[in-house]
Amino acid sequence: MSDKPVRVRFAPSPTGPLHMGGVRTALYNYLFAKKNNGTFIIRIEDTDQTRFVEGAQEYILDALKWCGIHATEGPGIGGNYGPYIQSERKELYKPFAEELVANDKAYYAFDTAEELDNVRAQAKAMGMPNWQYNTVTRMSLKNSLTLSADEVKRRLENGDQYVIRMKMPRNIDVRFEDIIRGWVVVNTNNLDDKVLFKSDGMPTYHLANIVDDHLMEISHVIRGEEWLPSAPLHVLLYDAFGWDCPKFAHLPLLLRPDGNGKLSKRDGDRLGFPVFPTDWLSAEGEKYTGYRESGYFPEAFVNMLAFLGWNPGTTQELFSIEELAEIFTLERVGKAGAKFDADKTKWFQQQYLRNTSNEDLADILSQKLNNKYDKDALVDVARLMKERATFVEDILTEGDYLLHRPENFDEQTVSKKWKSDSATLMSDWNDRLKSLTDFYPSTIEVAFKSFLEAKQLGIGAVLPLFRLLITGAGMGPSMFEIASFIGQEECVERMYEGLEKLKSHS
Ligand code: GLU
Repeated sequence: MSDKPVRVRFAPSPTGPLHMGGVRTALYNYLFAKKNNGTFIIRIEDTDQTRFVEGAQEYILDALKWCGIHATEGPGIGGNYGPYIQSERKELYKPFAEELVANDKAYYAFDTAEELDNVRAQAKAMGMPNWQYNTVTRMSLKNSLTLSADEVKRRLENGDQYVIRMKMPRNIDVRFEDIIRGWVVVNTNNLDDKVLFKSDGMPTYHLANIVDDHLMEISHVIRGEEWLPSAPLHVLLYDAFGWDCPKFAHLPLLLRPDGNGKLSKRDGDRLGFPVFPTDWLSAEGEKYTGYRESGYFPEAFVNMLAFLGWNPGTTQELFSIEELAEIFTLERVGKAGAKFDADKTKWFQQQYLRNTSNEDLADILSQKLNNKYDKDALVDVARLMKERATFVEDILTEGDYLLHRPENFDEQTVSKKWKSDSATLMSDWNDRLKSLTDFYPSTIEVAFKSFLEAKQLGIGAVLPLFRLLITGAGMGPSMFEIASFIGQEECVERMYEGLEKLKSHS
């Protein structure tokens, strides 16, 4: 690694909500910075005003906060390299574009959108569908390379609309080393004369990105693979300015679960899993579900994301963000697209739920239940149910009978297990329950076993009936624990009530 301090940035465009691929890019930047005692910066790239989406910037910043991906410099945080929103830096880009023109690395182009559309249409009619403004075609278009100096001056003074285009050199191999992909070589004959500065007085992404990465002293550009085709132009721009090029690392794509194509924003709701970190409601009223609102812990989401394209080289899978920051390297990021796995994502959430203390879960439950229940009771609810749950919400739905009397009885268990003599059997068992002098799980268990012996019945013939009457369910955690938790009085009453309700079944 070079001696330059590590400074990396996540540079989203506020053109919509942040896809989980974007969160992964932010995460890898964050981890890389932490690992290398560097600085993680957030920069908002909003120079394309036609694609601006109301609320997207707030969404992005809020989502990153929820994930625990905190920047050292950025909008709302500050830093010595601000402002961190490109539209607020608007004034500084033009001189850079003009510097390139003065050095013959770029030129003014006066062609109107309409004229270019015509040229494109003509080319298409002649069998060239991919017409480009490039080293060849530029010589027959309206720009400062073809017009006289006086004419260019007159047009500029006249306030004619223009853009500034990159003067792509002819037939040069642009080479750069990508940390993930190795050497990349692209011949400039395959590149067009990209617009660097637009007629609306704003820089394009390419110019603003390069200028800001330079001014913000970015050491490594870590971004999605979709930007790889832009990298040769960026390398040439650094060169044109005479600036050092940062190191590049282009991250692999996130693929659909079947590996068939890029994971897109529509896949989530179609295939039944979130694609966005938090809920997003588009201006058109389309709602996309987020991980946060689906009940995922941010720690589980981040842990899952870290593994989409990277691995630690060991079998360990559970890492806190701090632990990830200790071991993360770009060298362990793969080139191949990373397949999203919805089941694995749930597995991560389940692990994090299990590893959350019962006390902490009780706090969350308490909040969800508007502090209606005693904390100690909720600690027990968490203890009894968490092995069977993926989300906190599951504890409440699966374990509803711990807090309320069951209203319904599991149909399958009733039809399979409830026999003509079940009512008498359970009524006898209820008499035993009533007579117990304490109600610890072990006391109930001992009583239950002696009851089985007295009746000469196996556990499978009796326990499901007991469970059915107390919980309404066919399965669940230890019945002795459940009964003890509910308490003797409530248990006995539930048995009476259940027997009454199931009368008609015998
Ligand atoms: N603004 C670009 C984006 O929206 C950033 C690309 C880069 O990191 O250079 O992804």
